[in-house]
Amino acid sequence: MYVANIRGRLATWVDGKLADVEQVSGGRFGSSPAAVYRRWDEFRAWGDNVGASGSPAEVPSGLGAPSPAPRQTFGIGLNYRDHVEESGLEVPGFPSTFCKFASCIVGPEDPVEVVGNTSDWEVELVAVIGRAAHNAKADVGWDYVAGLTIGQDLSERTRQLADSPPQFSLGKSFPGYGPTGPWLVTPDELTDPADLPLRCFLDGEKVQESRTSQLIFSVPQLIEALSSIVTLLPGDIIFTGTPGGVGAARSPQRFLRPGQTLVSEIDGIGQLTTTLVGPS
Ligand code: ZN
Repeated sequence: MYVANIRGRLATWVDGKLADVEQVSGGRFGSSPAAVYRRWDEFRAWGDNVGASGSPAEVPSGLGAPSPAPRQTFGIGLNYRDHVEESGLEVPGFPSTFCKFASCIVGPEDPVEVVGNTSDWEVELVAVIGRAAHNAKADVGWDYVAGLTIGQDLSERTRQLADSPPQFSLGKSFPGYGPTGPWLVTPDELTDPADLPLRCFLDGEKVQESRTSQLIFSVPQLIEALSSIVTLLPGDIIFTGTPGGVGAARSPQRFLRPGQTLVSEIDGIGQLTTTLVGPS
């Protein structure tokens, strides 16, 4: 299934056509894109029944964040070797975890106001939780994933790194610093959900490229690690980490500017376009 938030209403594609879930289901499921994760198994079974599968023929307008109101939003640092190396740090023994506060989560059509002169890009695979998980094991980790989407873990490096210990959670949670989208794709739609090519383009120039098979901690391993401590809740989102090529690690360093466009893409999912703007 491809599942979207369109102007705040839950939508999917049936026989290639965009369908409003509340209407097509005769009211069995409500219109809320946030609430559906609490009934995810039932929703998936309904989707199979009505033939809700296949990728969208075209990109609709009005797209919002696929999980617009997560109760918990995790970010994983240092989860690709080339990014660990460019950061001059060691591979962590346990996923290096911070939180992107939920108010920073926006959708693909929301312009993002660039804060300061040291804001950076980080294309990431984002996993959305579809079943509560505590002490879940990695071998069944995918069972807890509703689907995958694309995210930008936008990071204001000055606040993030000014102090010791650093302020990852605050430096990555300015308004709009968590764009996600364009929609949610269930793992069964993907040939191999554990090996997805991903890229990031800044004004058309490719600045990051990798595959999710290069993740140090895979999606199921992250679910095992995080759920060994926290109860993961339906609708929660996990930014799984970024590959090498961020602006802060370049020589000279490069950062985001108002007027630029960031395109993040993952094969099999689609493209997330983020428009950067100046102070309003
Ligand atoms: Zn990140």
